[in-house]
Amino acid sequence: MNQKMNIAIDGPAGAGKSTAAKALAKRLGIRYLDTGAMYRAMALYAIRCGVRPEDPEGMASILDGADVRVKYMEDGSQHVFLGDEDVTGLLRTPELSMGASNVGLHPPVRQKLAEMQRRVGMQYDIIMDGRDITTNVLPNTPYKFYITASVEERARRRLHEMEQRGETGKILEEVKDEIAKRDANDMGRAYMPLRIAEDATVVDTTDMTAEEVVDYLVRKIEEL
Ligand code: C5P
Repeated sequence: MNQKMNIAIDGPAGAGKSTAAKALAKRLGIRYLDTGAMYRAMALYAIRCGVRPEDPEGMASILDGADVRVKYMEDGSQHVFLGDEDVTGLLRTPELSMGASNVGLHPPVRQKLAEMQRRVGMQYDIIMDGRDITTNVLPNTPYKFYITASVEERARRRLHEMEQRGETGKILEEVKDEIAKRDANDMGRAYMPLRIAEDATVVDTTDMTAEEVVDYLVRKIEEL
């Protein structure tokens, strides 16, 4: 098999990774893998099994039965399944954001999902975003980006996203607290924490529009 074009993006919650990755995938005519959705599906599975996502023994006991799958629809969009059930629409809740962060603490969970992600990378030209893509899943690709923004700006973007979905119950301070807590979890975990790979290009999107970010990524990819 020919070597596939793999583009790896990491960064904290709300930095604009998925918006940039989706738009970039469209421009380059390649697929996009949102690896966070796989961690979210794993958290959903744990909760359905009555296991707390932060419980290492509980997670180890259900891991073999966790049938998380990713499929691509004809329009190129990614859907996540638990067995035969399409759970894509259930994943973007605050409970599963934190649940995903907690299932991601356990090395066996990360190893299982990273292995699946590497296989996808071997099959397709693809852009993946997550927390350990540049450092662990695709460490050999030359195309590595760390996308970040100030915590205030990330909270503002998350709140805006929620409001667009009709979820109006939260105030900025609450969203900021949730993001800061998730950052601490993701950057502070012992195994495969979120960090900037030595050879990654850091993109601070605080004062950039989504389009500016994609233009910048395209230019960098052409240079690399
Ligand atoms: O990107 P998203 O917000 O959907 O990710 C949810 C959580 O899943 C993250 O906060 C992170 O803890 C975890 N995750 C991870 N490694 C990845 C992708 C997501 O640990 N590659």
